[in-house]
Amino acid sequence: MTNRTLASPGLLERLATGPVICAEGYLFELERRGYIQAGAFVPEVVLERPEKVYELHREFVHAGSDVVEAFTYYGHREKLRVIGKEELLEPLNRNALNIAAEVADESGTLLAGNICNTNIWVPEDKNTHAAARGMFEEQVGWAVDAGADMIIGETFCWTDEALVALDVIQASGKPSVITFALDADGLHDGADGVTACKRLADAGADVVGLNCFRGPATMLPVVRDIRAAVDCHVAALPVPYRTTPEHKTFQLLEDTSCCCTPSTGSFPTALDPFVCNRYEMGEFAKEMFSAGVNYLGICCGAGPHHIRSMAEALGRRPPASRYSPDMSKHAYQGTDDNIPDYYKKLGEMYE
Ligand SMILES: [Zn+2]
Repeated sequence: MTNRTLASPGLLERLATGPVICAEGYLFELERRGYIQAGAFVPEVVLERPEKVYELHREFVHAGSDVVEAFTYYGHREKLRVIGKEELLEPLNRNALNIAAEVADESGTLLAGNICNTNIWVPEDKNTHAAARGMFEEQVGWAVDAGADMIIGETFCWTDEALVALDVIQASGKPSVITFALDADGLHDGADGVTACKRLADAGADVVGLNCFRGPATMLPVVRDIRAAVDCHVAALPVPYRTTPEHKTFQLLEDTSCCCTPSTGSFPTALDPFVCNRYEMGEFAKEMFSAGVNYLGICCGAGPHHIRSMAEALGRRPPASRYSPDMSKHAYQGTDDNIPDYYKKLGEMYE
């Protein structure tokens, strides 16, 4: 147990007065930086190279994230069993929470505990339901011990699994954020995003919505419908990739202009040509917020520049805005008086 003082204002007070931004996507960014292995995607980095996790938390906060999400995504019992390291389960979770707590406390942001899809849920097998509940209970317990301000349950593909996660979070007394990852045809149980979110909202979730899998273009229309269907706060945390009506999720994107990607396709390690730029993510945030969606963020693929753009689109000026683009002082394309006319003239070749 820690003596951490809860952040004030808390999640619900912040949502009552404006948008809350939550940066996700730690797995992808730390994989890209060389500290996590694609495939298993287990966040051992929180034990092996904690300084890298501190740094990424701080970068996202610097860029405007209001939430520091403890990096326990896929740090659950099943994932650690798959890689044969169950003994790391508790130290990994406690370390991730302590790292996130330190960054939240130094920055006045919210500390979020995190639980997620267990990958063991089988609808007709009640044993898997009990096992999933046990996984949620142990992780939520550690988050409570660390003094979490809220708990995020994310990337669920089964409505009933998410309901169990919500039940465990509610028992902890912490505010709950539950988000589904929506495949092209809906959830694994056949539910669409609206129906699933409605069930979670009816069960008392504080925030419901979608995260991961879909990019802005294919997440936005669904989240609009969710907003219309529920009374609670609504979340939208897309992946920053250009998904399309034909390829609704990032798993389905295929880079046909390249012949050297792995046989498995562009997901998850060759999605680079599909990355949204910062302006697209800013537009997404603006459009969603004006539609009444007030919990906004980005999942796998997010970079601090995307988060800053979202924050600025919502009228914020996070510390990183000090370095937001100003092309007036560019050597060739600048318009500033201090740029030599000769170079401004040369710059015309870029027009
Ligand atoms: Zn994701």
